[in-house]
Amino acid sequence: MLLPRFDYLDPKNLEEALDLLAVHKEDAKVLAGGTDLLVRMKKGLLTPKVLISLKSLNELSYIKEEAGCIKIGARTPLADIIASGPVQDNARALSQACEKVGAITMQHYRGTIGGNILQDNRCHHYNQSDFHRSGHQACHKNGGKTCYARENADRCNSTCQSDGSTALMALGAKLVLLSKGQERTVDLDNFYTADGIMPHDMEPHELLKEIIIPINGARSAYKRLAYRSAIDYPIVCAGVLVRPSDSQKDRIDEARIVVGAMGRAPLFLAQASSSLKGKKLDDTDAFKKAADASMDSAATFAVHNVGSTLEYRCSMISPLVLQGLKEAASEK
Ligand SMILES: Cc1cc2nc3c(=O)[nH]c(=O)nc-3n(C[C@H](O)[C@H](O)[C@H](O)COP(=O)(O)OP(=O)(O)OC[C@H]3O[C@@H](n4cnc5c(N)ncnc54)[C@H](O)[C@@H]3O)c2cc1C
Ligand code: SF4
Repeated sequence: MLLPRFDYLDPKNLEEALDLLAVHKEDAKVLAGGTDLLVRMKKGLLTPKVLISLKSLNELSYIKEEAGCIKIGARTPLADIIASGPVQDNARALSQACEKVGAITMQHYRGTIGGNILQDNRCHHYNQSDFHRSGHQACHKNGGKTCYARENADRCNSTCQSDGSTALMALGAKLVLLSKGQERTVDLDNFYTADGIMPHDMEPHELLKEIIIPINGARSAYKRLAYRSAIDYPIVCAGVLVRPSDSQKDRIDEARIVVGAMGRAPLFLAQASSSLKGKKLDDTDAFKKAADASMDSAATFAVHNVGSTLEYRCSMISPLVLQGLKEAASEK
């Protein structure tokens, strides 16, 4: 499989990159590590005229503690996040999620956190070669009118399989998006559209600059299931956070349960999460009830398009959430 032709642009600073994005808009794609983008281009899923590389933008590669938050530049390699003391201490779910992405070579040399969040949704009917796709009629994502993953679906239900996004949503992260002369900050909770064709609420001329994670004494964990332990995407995953109360250290003040790789976006399970407010940090019965409730809620959104059976993936939600809650609650 060969890459299609494209112009390669190598801006030397952020301003230049934003200028180029403003000029080329939907004709361009941002190239970070390329481990998602170039694979899609080779499969003929995407043919941008221009690639705007982040290679020279060292200013987008950093991890710092500032104003009660961890701030991570979008071009930061996954390996730096895994090795980061502040991330391990305050956002362990993210460190655990990055450790699961692809393989060590990807984490060190190519994969970035920005690319991880913004990787396209996937579907085993669509993420195939041209030859494979030519064997059946086009689906919604390919310009057609049908969906092979969900009968009678009026839209694409491709699945978000980003490990990083599930962990970051559990951590209550925000994204800073830049375009020429403009900056906006969005909650990751609100960053997803309801359509797998354009899963992120982001304009073509926008660039992800930074990820912000609050430091608030919360403990977190990330769990996932994949066919193989490396070079494989999750088929179901869970990010969880529990924040002990300031006044009663053994009680939960806030919990966040997020299930990933089941549908178009990571799912924040508000009811299951709030059921843990006021519960003791060692209340495993309450954890089990919240884990089962997470499974019931997430199963209604689940789509059968990333392998295994839907029944098996759904049945694994509860054990993953439960493991995550126990681990997070016992974190010292
Ligand atoms: C074999 C294999 C296994 C994989 N396994 C996993 C896995 O287990 N879990 C997982 O989560 N991922 C997995 N991936 C996907 C991918 O490797 C990772 O998500 C990686 O972190 C993507 O980062 P990147 O820098 O290479 O992104 P790129 O490929 O460079 O970019 C991905 C997308 O994000 C956009 N983009 C990147 N940075 C920015 C920015 N700052 N602003 C605007 N747009 C931007 C690009 O335009 C592109 O559309 C796998 C990939 C392969 C090939
Ligand atoms: S979910 Fe449906 S529309 Fe989307 S890529 Fe898969 S088959 Fe196509």
